[in-house]
Amino acid sequence: MFKKILIANRGEIACRVMRTAQRMGIATVAVYSEADADAVHVEMADEAVAIGPAAASQSYLSTERILAACRETGAEAVHPGYGFLSENADFCETLEAAGFVFIGPKPKAIRAMGDKITSKKIAAEAGVSTVPGFMGLIEDADHAAKIAAGIGYPVMLKASAGGGGKGMRVAFNEQEARDGFARAKSEAASSFGDDRIFIEKFIEEPRHIEIQVLGDAFGHSIHLGERECSIQRRNQKIIEEAPSPFLDEATRQAMGAEAVALAKAVDYQGAGTVEFIVDKDRNFYFLEMNTRLQVEHPVTELVTGIDLVEEMIRIAAGEKLRIAQGEVKLTGWAVESRLYAEDPVRNFLPSIGRLARYRPPEEQRRGDIVVRNDTGVAEGLEISMFYDPMIAKLVTWAPDRLAAIDAMSDALDRFVIDGIEHNIPFLAAIMRHPRWREGRLSTGFIAEEYPQGFAPPPPSEDERAVLCAVALAVELLRRDRLDRLPGRLRPHSGKIARQWMVRLGEDDYVPVAIAEGAIAVPTELKVSIGEGAILDVLSSWRPGEPIWRGSISGREVAVQVRPVLGGVRLSWQGVAATAHVMPPRIAELDRLMPVRKAPDTSKMLLCPMPGLVVSIAVSEGQEVKAGEILAVVEAMKMENVLRAERDCTVASVNAAPGDSLAVDAVIMEFA
Ligand code: ADP
Ligand code: ADP
Ligand code: MG
Repeated sequence: MFKKILIANRGEIACRVMRTAQRMGIATVAVYSEADADAVHVEMADEAVAIGPAAASQSYLSTERILAACRETGAEAVHPGYGFLSENADFCETLEAAGFVFIGPKPKAIRAMGDKITSKKIAAEAGVSTVPGFMGLIEDADHAAKIAAGIGYPVMLKASAGGGGKGMRVAFNEQEARDGFARAKSEAASSFGDDRIFIEKFIEEPRHIEIQVLGDAFGHSIHLGERECSIQRRNQKIIEEAPSPFLDEATRQAMGAEAVALAKAVDYQGAGTVEFIVDKDRNFYFLEMNTRLQVEHPVTELVTGIDLVEEMIRIAAGEKLRIAQGEVKLTGWAVESRLYAEDPVRNFLPSIGRLARYRPPEEQRRGDIVVRNDTGVAEGLEISMFYDPMIAKLVTWAPDRLAAIDAMSDALDRFVIDGIEHNIPFLAAIMRHPRWREGRLSTGFIAEEYPQGFAPPPPSEDERAVLCAVALAVELLRRDRLDRLPGRLRPHSGKIARQWMVRLGEDDYVPVAIAEGAIAVPTELKVSIGEGAILDVLSSWRPGEPIWRGSISGREVAVQVRPVLGGVRLSWQGVAATAHVMPPRIAELDRLMPVRKAPDTSKMLLCPMPGLVVSIAVSEGQEVKAGEILAVVEAMKMENVLRAERDCTVASVNAAPGDSLAVDAVIMEFA
């Protein structure tokens, strides 16, 4: 076994790999860029080597610098994680030529599977069913139109070198095929430096289901069942689960057998994933093979009990596979949510900055529930614009699917992140979504269920009651604390008034009454909300804590609580509200108060996130049509194209290419 390995990656996956290496007694070496000097993976490793500037091309993607770090530290092997150099056959070859072991497949397998056209051909030869289509290169728009007509619409145009959901377009007719070809080609050229495009049938109501495989150097290959990753936004996975609620045992076995056949066909060594698209009749078709550890691998680990990183390391060290196919058992259900630094209510725009507060729920194995949080960040650190905006992967396991989903809901409620925007409200809303809970999925789920983007759903009657009860409990404690400030005269006898009014949002006034008992320290309340029944509210929450934990009529709840001027902002299970609690007389007056209107920004183009202006496409006095490009802003390695929302005339332009702008900076104004 290796004595020391280097992890050529950062963030959660670097930490994840080290966790296993440390358990196996292997020393770990981290590498880090200038932006990551304080990062968690650096702290966690036994040794750490600086490898260059923040830009990945000069650090995490530099074969030379990583090789130098191996030499300097005497690491025997390199684990590449995912992304960066993980699927780079040249890196793998250079490493092995220099006498280091690459923890992953051989360069030949990486090359064969790294190209979508080549891999599809190899898969077809190995007897794997592939998406019907044209396995050659598309020359031009005319050719695209001809091939598409032959396949039959809808079709998908894809970059052969593609990855990460980029460089693909669906076309429903000839015009779209022609336009899609041009756009896919240019996106592929700029993202992958390779503009080869091919076309295949677009599978309708598709589900993304993939098979985890393991192979060793002795020709043994097995599969570890499937993961379903149909909850995607723009072809990128957001929520994954294992097993799939859609597969029956026969389909699982058939898919597993094809995945193993493909792994054998390319002498696959290590952990890999064969991705399939599955139609509504459970026909499945090969999409691609990812020759690395997958982001969503933890769900497989939780249902099989197998540590994939350990198996990868053992295989790379020359050991034989320790598990026979017959020993692989899928137990229970696991769900993973990807937490991103992005603002779900502002069209998922990246949100960077300092993590003022970062307190994940406790990792645990309690009774029938497992909570695991794979993370690479810590409170006080910064989410920078240089890398992937993923904050953490929260994973839960339970004996059945709904219990795993409920455990996820609960864990999301208990996750505290302040300082940046994040997608927890969106993930929490999906956990409650009936269609997700029933498992009626397709990769179109998000586009279909949130066609206008995401807005937190309004609370139901029950949820309103919970929010009001928590708001009152919080307010009573706040008042109690104020009363106890030294030097302050107690303004009342110590008894608490019975009648209250909770204002949710701007003008939703809910009467809340304390049902019985005069209480001095309100940790235990009986309250009635509106016309509703009496609720028992119990909590040991103290002012300042970001989560109100307690029970409401026996139901355990964890509600996020943040102070705002005169009230609190509450969020729970994907619903959110600002609550102000006041005596009824004050509420009467409160209703008469004018509401301050937000300034009118409808005639301005605001910078949606902190970023760098790449280009300004219009000039003063120019008339633009809805949908036209106004400016391009770069943040988090992504170019964000800002378009006109309606027809308008540009009155002034306040920014120029190269300007570094804060969020909400006014880029231009319209007449
Ligand atoms: P998975 O199937 O493991 O979920 P993803 O498609 O989400 O894979 O990609 C995993 C990571 O690798 C992401 O950070 C993504 O940005 C990156 N990635 C995947 N493919 C490529 C590629 N061809 N080029 C650059 N980055 C990639
Ligand atoms: P990437 O390398 O970017 O991960 P994939 O080929 O794995 O590319 O496709 C990513 C996603 O795009 C799939 O999970 C699926 O949602 C969608 N997709 C790809 N090909 C098709 C197809 N032929 N029909 C329908 N959806 C597809
Ligand atoms: Mg894929």
